[in-house]
Amino acid sequence: MPTAEEAQARLAEIPNLTVSTDTLLAPHTRFAIGGPADVYAETRSVEAFVAAIEAARASGLETMVIGGGTNLIVSDEGFRGIVLRFRADRLAAERESVTADAGAELQDLVDFTIAKGLQGIETLAGIPGSVGAAVYGNAGAYGHSISERVVQVRFYDGSAVRVFTRDECQFHYRESIFKRHKEWIIFSTELLMDPADTVVLRRTADDILKVRNEKFPVTMKCAGSIFKNLLLRDLPPEVAATIPAGVVREGKVASAYFLEQVGAKGMERGQIRVATYHANLIYNAGGGSADDLCVLIGDLKERVRARFGIELEEEVQFVGAFPQSLR
Ligand SMILES: Cc1cc2nc3c(=O)[nH]c(=O)nc-3n(C[C@H](O)[C@H](O)[C@H](O)COP(=O)(O)OP(=O)(O)OC[C@H]3O[C@@H](n4cnc5c(N)ncnc54)[C@H](O)[C@@H]3O)c2cc1C
Repeated sequence: MPTAEEAQARLAEIPNLTVSTDTLLAPHTRFAIGGPADVYAETRSVEAFVAAIEAARASGLETMVIGGGTNLIVSDEGFRGIVLRFRADRLAAERESVTADAGAELQDLVDFTIAKGLQGIETLAGIPGSVGAAVYGNAGAYGHSISERVVQVRFYDGSAVRVFTRDECQFHYRESIFKRHKEWIIFSTELLMDPADTVVLRRTADDILKVRNEKFPVTMKCAGSIFKNLLLRDLPPEVAATIPAGVVREGKVASAYFLEQVGAKGMERGQIRVATYHANLIYNAGGGSADDLCVLIGDLKERVRARFGIELEEEVQFVGAFPQSLR
């Protein structure tokens, strides 16, 4: 099997691809945690990206794609393999149809649509990260998710560039078909919006941004919510029966509700802390490790399991190897 150096040499031959070795991933994550990737490469070109992914896979080394790193927990040992990032960030609108490259910031797309007087994703204001990852994880907030506006998604399936309609993307709450095919890479998406007043849209987005910036200060090293919320209908009936009506929103119960009952707020391990004001928000106070983060996550899951008999599922994505005892 080729070594990381051989893979790096092959990648370095691809035009318009920036390649480096032994690249620390912590600066590529909002948690600011994570060891080095053997090889890291990025490009704004679809052709270069396809060539890179083909070379990476031919190398036999493990390969993964990241966006802005706002939803990742990278192992302290890093990633033995090749990390790729697609950075094309073009945004275009034709009447109510908007096309966005996967590497664009979701916030830039929100601002772009608002400036064009197009309604549909203004409630996603303040969700950090890229458009590609937003589609991958069906990002959403305030009762709306990006899938509501997706018409189609252009992606690479490992052998060809394909286009899926919204139905084919199989979107659900924080889910899409892309999460089940981690080898597929999203290049762009087309959204269908509605015309609306820019001033009203801007006000909605700004109100949301204000609330979000208080909850998640922009300098906070975190991944937003660690756990997915739970669908009321999926809870064991005896647990569902105890949930106060005010806690249920759009058929979902916030994980924070269960975490709060088990004393999560303010818990800490090393430099990793649960916010005192939000039980589903874990942050790195500075110099924290992935190991401590995973132990704390495991502890929280165990507490909720023991008390309610339910399994919390992480919304964050794990990168690299973690000792079994930590997962
Ligand atoms: C403060 C804060 C608040 C947040 N609030 C919310 C919220 O309200 N709602 C919400 O939904 N999320 C929220 N998040 C989570 C996060 O912002 C989203 O999950 C975001 O979509 C991740 O984008 P990213 O570019 O950083 O992706 P990364 O974290 O880099 O990657 C996430 C996953 O996407 C995959 N991926 C990235 N790019 C591609 C691509 N082009 N093709 C295929 N797969 C790809 C990666 O392989 C990885 O598995 C929050 C995060 C933070 C830090």
